[in-house]
This record gives sequence, structure tokens and C-alpha cells, in this order.
Amino acid sequence: MASRVGWAVVMVGGLVSGCTLMQERDDAEIVVAKALVSDEQEAQLGEQIRRELEQQGIRYTKDVQVQQYVEGLVAQLQPHAKKDRDTRLHVHVIDDTKTVNAFATPGGHLYVYTGLLTTASNESEVVGVLSHEVGHVVARHAARSLVAQLGLSNVASLALGSDPEALHQVVGQLLTNGALLAHSRADELEADVYAVRYAAAAGYDPRGIAMFFRKLPTVEGRWGKALSWLQTHPTTPDRIERVNATIARERLSGSKLGAETLAPIKQRIEAGMPVSWK
Ligand SMILES: [Zn+2]
Repeated sequence: MASRVGWAVVMVGGLVSGCTLMQERDDAEIVVAKALVSDEQEAQLGEQIRRELEQQGIRYTKDVQVQQYVEGLVAQLQPHAKKDRDTRLHVHVIDDTKTVNAFATPGGHLYVYTGLLTTASNESEVVGVLSHEVGHVVARHAARSLVAQLGLSNVASLALGSDPEALHQVVGQLLTNGALLAHSRADELEADVYAVRYAAAAGYDPRGIAMFFRKLPTVEGRWGKALSWLQTHPTTPDRIERVNATIARERLSGSKLGAETLAPIKQRIEAGMPVSWK
């Protein structure tokens, strides 16, 4: 196994020569993640995680209009994300107004809590958060986290090993202790770059994610620990500055805010519309 790992390291080293050190590390990680965790494996991991989340008791919204609303937003982002990574996105809306959160898992699964929709002031904020999560998918952050947390040699031996269940078991453990869904600061900043790009490309005000960042601290006092997205996405002035700098540098613009289109969805959620799934 050591020789196979050695080969992978040499291959990665050869592909990223000439970059800056930091960029080199990121590129190396993404190449390793791509080489060792295939799209097929990612899809299997995503399915495994979905089953485990359901076993843990997450409940999806039964309101088809709310589900279709979020699917519609993601559908606007998909063609732009596809240019960076051709992968299908799956939308799951979790029925939990007390939790302000969204996350992505391997295999392009996006999970959004209804509490995030009711906390946002307008659609551009929701789109900013969704685009950020799509950024995690596009940049293969879950697979890169595996490499970072388990070590290259362990992921290599799991991926190349004869027991395909071994990788699944390890991911199950990582999911249980939350390690797989916690991203590094570098990954968060990278996902922010995708967030503003995709939001602007879809015609939205790319400052939506920064507006949502600013909102979270004021909401925190009301819901305390339920604000999971804030816990995994620490809002710092530095982060908002970086978002604004990316918008300026890449000359991104978009005028759509969509307060009027989000409002009826918020009303449905807050009223707890008893709607059958069919
Ligand atoms: Zn994130």
C-alpha cells in the first residue's frame, strides 16, 4: 500500500508545480480527493449519510410548495455550478423552524432547515447560503475533509482497499461526531467565493450572504444554540470584508433581492400549513 500512496503523492506533486505554497496545498488536496473518492463513492456516501440522518430523526417538510420553492432556487444555481463541477444536486428541506442551518454532504445533497428560510429577510440571503453550500460540493470539501482528517495514506488504503464497506464505516463514525460536516476556515472562505459568483450569475444581489452573516448575531440571543449555521460559519468582520472584496475584484453584480417572493413561503412555514405531500 505504501507504494501506491507514494505514487499518488508524486502524481499530485507533479500536477501542482508552479503554484504558490497555499494554492499548492489546496490543489493537491482537491486532486487527491478526486482521485481517491470517486463520484460513485461520493454518491454512496451521500446516500449513507441521508439514511443515518433519517434514522437520527430529521423530518422533511410535507409542504410541497416549500420544497419546490427551494428546488427552484437551486435549479437557478445549477447551470452555473455545473461549469465548475458536473454533478447533480439533491434538495432536502428539513421541517424545523427552531434551527437556522443548512449543510451539504457528499453526492451533492443540500439540506436546508425551514428555520433558515424564516430567518432570512429576502431570497438573495437564502440564495447566498445555498450557493455557499453548493460551493462546498463543487470544491469537493467533504472528500478533502476526509483526506485532512484521516490522513492521505488512510484514505488511500480505504479507497484502494478490497473492502468497500470500510470507507463507509469510517464516514459513519465521522458523521456521528460531526467531523465530516465541519469545514476548515480555508474551505469556508473558498465556499464564500463560489457563493457570490453563483448568486450574481443567477441575477441576485451577491451581497446576500454577507447580509445573512450580519443578521445571525442579532438572532442568536433569541434562539441560542439552535443557530447551528453560525457555529459552523463564524461571522467575522474579516469574512464579510473578504466577501465584499471578491464582489469588487470579480465585478459581480445582481439586483434581485426577492423579499416579495420569500414572504409567502415564510408565511406558509410560520402558519404550519397542513399540506399533504401528494
Ligand atoms: Zn460552509
